[in-house]
Amino acid sequence: MSDVGFVAAAVREGRTSADSVAREVGRRLTRSAPLNATLDWSQAILDRQATRLDAMSATQRAARPLAGVPIALKDNIVTTDQPTTCASRILEGYVSPYDATVVTRLRAAGALIASKTNLDEFAMGSSTEHSCRGRVHHPLDPARVPGGSSGGSAALVAAGVVPAALGSETGGSVRQPASFCGVVGIKPSYGRVSRYGLVAFGSSLDQISVFGRTVDDASRVLAVISGHDEHDATSAPLPPLVLETPRRDLRGITVGLPREYFPTDLDGAVRAALDQVRDRVRDLGGTIREVSLPHTRYAVPTYYIVAPAEAAANLARFDGVRYGPRRVGAGGDVEALYRATRGQGFGAEVRRRILIGTYVLSSGYYDAYYRKAQQVRALLADDFRRVFEEQAVDMLLTPTTPTPAFRAGEKTDDPVAMYLADIFTCSINLAALPAISIPAGRSNGLPIGAQLVAPMFAEARMLSAAAALEAALDPTREVR
Ligand code: GLN
Repeated sequence: MSDVGFVAAAVREGRTSADSVAREVGRRLTRSAPLNATLDWSQAILDRQATRLDAMSATQRAARPLAGVPIALKDNIVTTDQPTTCASRILEGYVSPYDATVVTRLRAAGALIASKTNLDEFAMGSSTEHSCRGRVHHPLDPARVPGGSSGGSAALVAAGVVPAALGSETGGSVRQPASFCGVVGIKPSYGRVSRYGLVAFGSSLDQISVFGRTVDDASRVLAVISGHDEHDATSAPLPPLVLETPRRDLRGITVGLPREYFPTDLDGAVRAALDQVRDRVRDLGGTIREVSLPHTRYAVPTYYIVAPAEAAANLARFDGVRYGPRRVGAGGDVEALYRATRGQGFGAEVRRRILIGTYVLSSGYYDAYYRKAQQVRALLADDFRRVFEEQAVDMLLTPTTPTPAFRAGEKTDDPVAMYLADIFTCSINLAALPAISIPAGRSNGLPIGAQLVAPMFAEARMLSAAAALEAALDPTREVR
């Protein structure tokens, strides 16, 4: 059984107290300090949640699917008992007056909110190096990055500190770090999980997403946080996700390999790992079909117009009036207040996004960039639709990332090189589809992820297929 299932059963049946889980996770969080993966956590807050659970009657506890399960949250998901900073100076000390819907649901399910986790400022980045609180270290090699922007959550799960964690995805920020760190990352369909209480980056792309060490761990958490929420008009009118019993085989499933995701210059180890996954699909009785998603090469440029445009609009609210520290600039008028607060509050990458976003939305450039990007986004979505609907493909198999985890500092001076780390993930956010990254092997000790992409709202089938593949793969085996 998974860790999530194991802990929840033990606490529900009274074999372990939530209090002892809270103390153990506190010890692990303390030991994890060198990773710099946590932002705010406190033993007192953990203990308080555990005491509440332990004080319940056995019947009350029995109804809680995540009883006593410690879960870490990316620090762009708001909580009332800890600050939410998005790793930005502009939100220093900010405490939300309400809990995000996912937090309310996790608490109701009996989970212990263990820690807020480090991230790229406002979730903008692919390495968790753009944080005002310093970079996160890869748990297997401190000189490397854990991926990003949800690098803190990924590192804590990979290091065995918590069995599951939440991150957020706008363009791959859970699947990419999951792949780098050797854990499972699920990005649900747009609308599957409420965004109420997720600090907005690109509102048409953002989706709270889940890390676990196994498909089962992550799926159980996704089931709890999913389902319609009246506080988020973009949440789909669907009940919470019902999981299928994991499949033992892939008989009757057609898996498409999009040729654009296997370019000739793909990293050799990534290709070898994916070759093995393809062979396992066949061993399990699945059918492999080569397919084409012809607009793939436009995904990164399209994403890096749409996401910054939406970010520029969303981040306009951080003006020194409502949130975080207010800095009064020279001149003392409102313009000076904005300039000082925003100039000192935002880091370089966030400022770059605001500049790009403002530029592509400005009159004269809107048609050439923003409108064009929206048109290309529709073409990208149509590529997927055609493969799923007209070629009877049930899901796609691709690499999650073009390479294993890179070294810290390697891409910080070259934003475009950093953006290309999202090449196999951001198209899926643009098309609003669900996808999962599972560990598929290692190269020189560094994990490599394989990605499954499914049609809109087909998570249940995607997850049961991923579980079958997971059982057939050896994630720690060196590929070559
Ligand atoms: N790396 C991408 C970016 O920097 C994706 C971020 C995300 O998914 N939050 O925008």
